[in-house]
Amino acid sequence: MEVDILELSDRYAKFVLSNVSTAFANSIRRAMIADVPTLAIEYVNIYDNTSVLYDEQLTLRLSLIPLVTDLETYVPQAECDVCEGEGCPACELSLTLSAEGPITVYSKDLISSDPKIQPADPNVPIVELKKGQKLVIEAIAHMGYGRDSVKWQAGIACGYKNVPIIAIANCDACGHCAAECPKSIIRVEGTGARVAEDDVLKCSLCRLCEQVCDINAIKIDFDENAFVFSMESDGSYTARELILNAANVIKGKAEEVVHILDQL
Ligand code: SF4
Ligand code: SF4
Ligand SMILES: [Zn+2]
Repeated sequence: MEVDILELSDRYAKFVLSNVSTAFANSIRRAMIADVPTLAIEYVNIYDNTSVLYDEQLTLRLSLIPLVTDLETYVPQAECDVCEGEGCPACELSLTLSAEGPITVYSKDLISSDPKIQPADPNVPIVELKKGQKLVIEAIAHMGYGRDSVKWQAGIACGYKNVPIIAIANCDACGHCAAECPKSIIRVEGTGARVAEDDVLKCSLCRLCEQVCDINAIKIDFDENAFVFSMESDGSYTARELILNAANVIKGKAEEVVHILDQL
């Protein structure tokens, strides 16, 4: 297996994953979306809410605010050995909020009981309070999995495509393919059409160029064992952390299978 990083920022990564099966590539994608646990608000104790939002609307908005997650400190509540699912500092924390209008309440106004755990984005609007309206709450955040609810989904816009292979031979330089290509990556020069090496990965494999070439001079194929991956994190983890956590999830599952088979 080879990994070639094309772009890496705090919340976004694009890389080429080679010499793996489609099943493995998809397992990485699924692990980032569904199997890496994150913290999200699960319960809200509402002491006062005279805002325009119903309690249920308010709670939904709060639950979808991504929280920076520390996988070293917190475990999913259903797997917590300390409290066996009752709730304890190993699997939950509280965030409080008290505000009176006129003011717009933002995610940064949530005061966390653990300074390490904060909203990933400080300026998510929660509700606008008019003069005299009040909001006093305590929110309880749990660790959970994206497979159970989207609020625990750390990976967003995670996808991949096979690495394209573009072959051009006996071209008569008519230029039809270049005019049709939605990615504008085909250049027609005196000797014929060509795609720069750096542009090949931009090909969407739409095959429109093949369809307009009357002499079948351009052929589009793909590498079955190489994938261009792109993914974003919601801010619960950095993109790098999320990829590593997803890989560790797969490794853990494989070790579990080996352990079970060893006992047979
Ligand atoms: S397959 Fe589509 S994107 Fe790729 S080179 Fe042909 S027209 Fe362009
Ligand atoms: S359409 Fe075919 S012949 Fe025309 S430039 Fe493209 S590859 Fe060459
Ligand atoms: Zn616990």
